[in-house]
Amino acid sequence: MSVSDSGQIQSAKAAPSPEQAKKAKTQFNKLQKRLRREVGKAIADYNMIEAGDRVMVCLSGGKDSYAMLEILMGLQKSAPIDFELVAVNMDQKQPGFPEHVLPQYLDQLGIEYYIINRDTYSVVKEKIPEGATTCGLCSRLRRGTLYTFAEDIKATKIALGHHRDDIVETMFLNMFYGSRLSAMPPKLLSDDGRNIVIRPMAYCREKDLVRFADCKGFPIIPCNLCGSQENLQRQNIKMMLQDWERQQPGRVEHIFTSMQNIKLSQMADTSLFDFKNLQIDRSSERKAYEFADDQTVDGKPARDAVKMVNIVNL
Ligand code: SF4
Repeated sequence: MSVSDSGQIQSAKAAPSPEQAKKAKTQFNKLQKRLRREVGKAIADYNMIEAGDRVMVCLSGGKDSYAMLEILMGLQKSAPIDFELVAVNMDQKQPGFPEHVLPQYLDQLGIEYYIINRDTYSVVKEKIPEGATTCGLCSRLRRGTLYTFAEDIKATKIALGHHRDDIVETMFLNMFYGSRLSAMPPKLLSDDGRNIVIRPMAYCREKDLVRFADCKGFPIIPCNLCGSQENLQRQNIKMMLQDWERQQPGRVEHIFTSMQNIKLSQMADTSLFDFKNLQIDRSSERKAYEFADDQTVDGKPARDAVKMVNIVNL
């Protein structure tokens, strides 16, 4: 399915042969299983969803948020705990936004949902000069609205559809353009402590989500309705990572795993590790350093060379 310029949902694919259909179904089942496993693991690793939670699932109309809702609904059926899912979309009043698409889709799912009408588009257009980047203000307005709405509907978690590639891209963006090592955490307490944001797809690869969305035929709403260019810096980082991944498959995964395995004493942040007050402690018996006894100086054991130096100095 796709959404036409006039906002109509269209279906335009030729019917596959029975063999093709069987193969595609097997591949889809594998993909769906993998995505569910990854989402389930992320939820467990970060204790994202607890019994009794009311999870507000934010839907933008893009592939990632549709996939998140679908996977969470599947997990909800098999989870050993009870939790609620509420879908929420924010209609930012961008020109040409097909208002009927999400309600139509969500009605079919039979899930509780809300559409928040908030004309952030006009606010952004009014406040930001022509040609300047609009995404910063737009995101802040959206975040504020969603946080407030989550409290209004008594949601205890806010689920966002960012995936592993988004998280790694954000880390490089912050490093290259902000000189800081930070990304998008899988779970975040808002600054005022009133909301918890979760990213259940933190372990999912974007290319799997593209395939999943394609197989499911989600009615994707174009993301360029605001007229803003996709963030050029993010695009550059994306291309850099894709290039690395082509040269060495698995590199993005290694980078993400590194983010879960940080050794503060091996970094350089004095606010996170107390480098200044490092003290030596020789009270315990010294362990042999690796290869220390095998080293030689001028053909003699290094230990003897040290003694000789000591004798000369005396
Ligand atoms: S691309 Fe458009 S809708 Fe998205 S954050 Fe930027 S200004 Fe807002």
